[in-house]
Amino acid sequence: MPHEETFATAVNCMDGRVQEPVRKWIQQRFGVFHVDMVTEAGPSGILARGEPEEIVRSIFHRVDISIEKHGSRVVAVVGHHDCAGNPVDAHQQKQHIVESVRRIRAWREDVTVIGLYVNHRWEVEEVVSFHPSRPSVQAPREGHDGPDVSPYP
Ligand SMILES: [Zn+2]
Repeated sequence: MPHEETFATAVNCMDGRVQEPVRKWIQQRFGVFHVDMVTEAGPSGILARGEPEEIVRSIFHRVDISIEKHGSRVVAVVGHHDCAGNPVDAHQQKQHIVESVRRIRAWREDVTVIGLYVNHRWEVEEVVSFHPSRPSVQAPREGHDGPDVSPYP
């Protein structure tokens, strides 16, 4: 049983069909208790294009809270079959997922960033993954009085 205070992050579609499969897959794969959901309509399309800018900023802001306040070390970007917000075929959806992962990766290279595709059977497929290129130092939790180490030199 994973520790109750472990978190991962999913930039997921608001589509109600993908919440549970994505949450369960991430919990099993990474052994975390909670999955913070940052939802938009078709976020893979938004992040692949980099616009609208205010929504990209809002996504980053919420992912940042999940990393900094909840100590998440894994960020998943999700695209899926039959997406109303980003209505493209599976091949293009996966390209958007890869582009989205690259964008998040360029911004945060200290966490694992993965791309997930939820297929027509509502099964989760791992499309791409990047692991931290720098040694990850856990951000000190609030109220923690250990050594004051910043993960961002
Ligand atoms: Zn969708």
